[in-house]
Parts: sequence; C-alpha cells; structure tokens
Amino acid sequence: MTLDNTTGAGAGAHMGTGIGIDDLTKTFRSRGRTTVALEDTHLHTEQGSFLALLGPSGCGKSTILRILAGLETPSSGTALVDGKTPRELRRGGELGIAFQDHALLPWRTVRKNIRLPFEVAGLSVDKDYIAELIELVGLTGFEDARPAQLSGGMRQRVSIARALALKPSVLLLDEPFGALDDMTRQNLNLELLRIWTEKPATTLLVTHGISEAIFLADKVAVMSPRPGRIKAVIDVTLPRPRTPEMMRTPEFHALVDQASELLFGADGRAEAEA
Ligand code: ADP
Ligand code: MG
Repeated sequence: MTLDNTTGAGAGAHMGTGIGIDDLTKTFRSRGRTTVALEDTHLHTEQGSFLALLGPSGCGKSTILRILAGLETPSSGTALVDGKTPRELRRGGELGIAFQDHALLPWRTVRKNIRLPFEVAGLSVDKDYIAELIELVGLTGFEDARPAQLSGGMRQRVSIARALALKPSVLLLDEPFGALDDMTRQNLNLELLRIWTEKPATTLLVTHGISEAIFLADKVAVMSPRPGRIKAVIDVTLPRPRTPEMMRTPEFHALVDQASELLFGADGRAEAEA
C-alpha cells in the first residue's frame, strides 16, 4: 500500500488512508448469466483527497461506488474508506451520496428534501445548517419550491446539498452532473470544488468527463471493461487552489491527453471489444 503525500495534495489535511480497495471482485449472477463486473481491483487514496473514476459504460464504476456505499456486497476482497467498512460509515452518518438521477422526493420542497437525511438518521434537524447549505449551492429564494418547479441543474444542486446535509466525511458521487448541459455542468463543477475545498471529504466521483476529472481530482483512475479493472491511476499534479484558467495550461492538456490515451488508445479509437 502506498501513502503518497508528495504531489497533487488536496486542500484537506491528509491524515491517513482514504479509499482502500484491495483484491476486490464482484460477479453478478442473474437468470443463468454471469457478469464479472470487477476483477482484481486495487485502489488507494489518502483521507480527504479527491478521486475521479473514468471509464467506458459498463466497466464497473458504479459497482465500485455502490460497494463503498454498502449498496452491494463484494464477491471477494475488501473495500474500506477512512479505515471503515461501508456499514460503519452508514451507521455513523458519515456517507454523502448523490446519483445522476437526482432522486428527489417530488412532493417535498427543496428545504424538506435536504432535511431528509436527518429524518432518516433519526437526528434533530439542524435548520441553520440547512439554510447554510441552500446558500452554498446557490438556491436561496427557492427553499419552498418543489422539484418540478426547478431546472435540471437546480435539482442536482438540491441533491448535492442533501448529500452534504450530515457533514459527511466521505462523499460518493455517481455522475451527478451527467445529464446536464456543458455550461451548467461547468458551473456545478466549480461549485463542487468550492464546497469540497471548504469541507474536504474523502471523495469518489464517477464521471464521463475527462476534463472535469482532471480539473477536480487529486487522482484519476482509468478503468477498462470486461472484466472491469483499474487500468492506470494518474496523479494530478496541478496545484491547488484550482482555477478555471488552469484548464488552458499545457500541464492540464498533457494530463487530459494522458487520460484520453488510456481510455481510447493512442490512435483515438476505443479498445477492441473482447
Ligand atoms: P458503469 O457504472 O461503469 O457503467 P456498472 O458498475 O453499472 O458499470 O456495471 C458493470 C457491469 O456489471 C455491467 O456489465 C453491468 O451490466 C453489470 N451489472 C451491474 N449491476 C448489475 C446487477 N445488479 N445485476 C447484474 N449485472 C449487473
Ligand atoms: Mg454507472
């Protein structure tokens, strides 16, 4: 296991192991068919650091995230975050999760959707903090709106705010901005970066966006499919704080090229299907 505190360190205090995945495999069996979703998977980050997971559809990204969230069990191997099992993280209210499908309750207002994690955990609602979160994600004035009255970008902000409600030390984000247009996505990435910088959680972001992965993360893990494996991990050596101007530097482009080559091959074509 490597504890790398040399380059690309995030804004957070790196105190120990963040994501710790070892020898992880996951096989799904349904209706007589067997799918090896993950094989021989190893992944390590530092506590409070930001990892992005890139890879073609079906390579096992969501499976990794769902195992860390305790929503799937591994077939073999271990998956810990900050030294804790998914069950321990859930029990301690330390997990914040957001998915592409925002999964807001349509009959609840913005404020009441963000309040939900307190209710589920049986905790008294921290109204001041909820107001703070609403401000943080730029939804002041929309507290009493229902999801149907909001744009797609605003709904995603609500689900990010909800993921942050219990001040999680671990943040698991599965393509949270995947369905949005580029402009909105760019803005939300900047907001996510700001939020993470203020309260650095050990973060795993699943994304299709190469640029956003490089822009946000300390490390970018590139996966390959059939069976799903980690192909390579790129150390993002760009300094922090990150600014949008950095996306125009040669260093940034070199990292994007490196990730693209891993994903699509040097000739720009996706790897031949197995
Ligand atoms: P990604 O998020 O990278 O698109 P997933 O982790 O969702 O990929 O899926 C990896 C593989 O596992 C895919 O082949 C998918 O069809 C399969 N898979 C995922 N969940 C299940 C399930 N509950 N039952 C059967 N197969 C599944
Ligand atoms: Mg997925």
